[in-house]
Amino acid sequence: MFEISVQTYAHKSIVISLQELFLEAMNEQDFGIKEIISHAKEYGFVYPSSEIYDGLQAVYDYGPYGAELKNNLKNLWWQAMVKLNENVVGLDAAIFMHPLTWKASGHVDSFNDPMIDNKDSKKRYRADVLLEDKAAELATNGSQDKADALLKEMGKLLDAENLEGVRQLIIDNEIACPISGTLNWTEVRQFNLMFSTQIGSVADDANNIYLRPETAQGIFVNFLNVQKTARQKIPFGIAQIGKAFRNEIVARQFIFRMREFEQMEMQFFIRPGEEMEWYEHWKQIRLKWHRALGIPNEDLRFHDHDKLAHYANAAVDIEFKFPFGFKEVEGIHSRTDFDLGNHQELSRKKMQYFDPTINKNYVPYVIETSAGADRLFFMLLCNGFKQVTAGAEAHQKQRTFLKFHPALAPVKAAILPLVKKDGLPEIGRKIFEDLKYDFNLIYEDAQSIGKRYTRQDLIGTPFCIAVDHQTKEDETVTIRHRDTMEQERVKISALKGIIEKEVSLKNIFREL
Ligand code: ATP
Repeated sequence: MFEISVQTYAHKSIVISLQELFLEAMNEQDFGIKEIISHAKEYGFVYPSSEIYDGLQAVYDYGPYGAELKNNLKNLWWQAMVKLNENVVGLDAAIFMHPLTWKASGHVDSFNDPMIDNKDSKKRYRADVLLEDKAAELATNGSQDKADALLKEMGKLLDAENLEGVRQLIIDNEIACPISGTLNWTEVRQFNLMFSTQIGSVADDANNIYLRPETAQGIFVNFLNVQKTARQKIPFGIAQIGKAFRNEIVARQFIFRMREFEQMEMQFFIRPGEEMEWYEHWKQIRLKWHRALGIPNEDLRFHDHDKLAHYANAAVDIEFKFPFGFKEVEGIHSRTDFDLGNHQELSRKKMQYFDPTINKNYVPYVIETSAGADRLFFMLLCNGFKQVTAGAEAHQKQRTFLKFHPALAPVKAAILPLVKKDGLPEIGRKIFEDLKYDFNLIYEDAQSIGKRYTRQDLIGTPFCIAVDHQTKEDETVTIRHRDTMEQERVKISALKGIIEKEVSLKNIFREL
């Protein structure tokens, strides 16, 4: 039996009220995000985990439409990686790994966040995030030089592990606690983010294992297995989607920062010395992928790391403009031979590749692309949530809809007979039966057509197909387009082609 060490359900600090989960989700500030979070719950996208027990902090469940949207997102990532690249193959490694994995990866010794507490509010913060927020504020107020200097100084202090210096920097910059407004800070402490648990029945140290904090290590330890069995030659990549776990301390940011989340990672194995070329290559590919999902270019940007992780010689984040500012959604890292080299040392198994082109053995270098499925989901929600005024002047009203790319939308089309009689439901059912093998559909024949359109808008369905009396005469239906509310009459036989065109991989990834 496994027992997770944070399994202290009665412990107040991990159990929080719904109000805290949703209304105070973004660090006690609003940023206009409340409505998006409430919408996500109300319309079946995201619920707090174990809500009947008041929820578990920073853990969430995905409802019917959320699960569809997330699956579509993961599927599009997988297709773009594995299907569109001949030299990228997939893997599904276990969450539990030999404990030495995490020694080799550096997570046991240095997977820490620098934390600081405010003595008056008793709230805990990540020291680096406080400083980054201050830098963002300086930059917004036109002091870019000061912002750059602050981040540089922070990077220097963190590299030197000078935690007292980090605390002093916070005080010198008069960074006050957002709750108490005071500078009454504790010292900065390092906090390891890995969850540990026991495997087997004997409770001694040798049986201690970790829930993986990243999926990447499952790829590294399988590097030679995959290379040989999938007959890959360098350069090649291994892609994986899976759960990761981090005991995040500052975890009041809805699904932006969770304790259990999903990563979509790809490790690309290359010849040493070629890393900068491949790093640039994957940076551009990944940015285009985000754009292809319908994220406007101006809401995406690269942000070079000020402080490189222990494994990287170059690192950049792709950031999305959330309502609370530009934040990381994906990291692209040049990880050198750090991981394979360390695994080779600790396992005493060779992690080398024989390169026939140059007749040499070497430990490959690695470029990693690492995206969080949940964070991208949040990005899609923020980007797609639209509130507009619609209708003729006299009857104007607020209209809310989710503008998802059709390929991502949880439901592709709703089949809506205008009335529940005159043979219209039968035609609607037939359309549903014909198309259900190709697309996720909803059939609905109760209530007014207007109410049914609104319900589909709220979950982001791109097409509403109405069956009316004319359908009986000429086998045509109307398609209502979610974003424009425009309607067109088309033949029933053309429906499949119309929807397919919008959701086809080729249509989405032409640019990649
Ligand atoms: P941050 O600085 O925001 O903590 P990170 O730099 O530690 O993120 P990585 O280790 O590079 O993140 O992980 C890659 C991706 O995994 C991130 O870009 C993010 O999308 C996702 N991710 C990381 N931590 C979390 C989390 N706690 N909850 C949700 N997604 C996460």
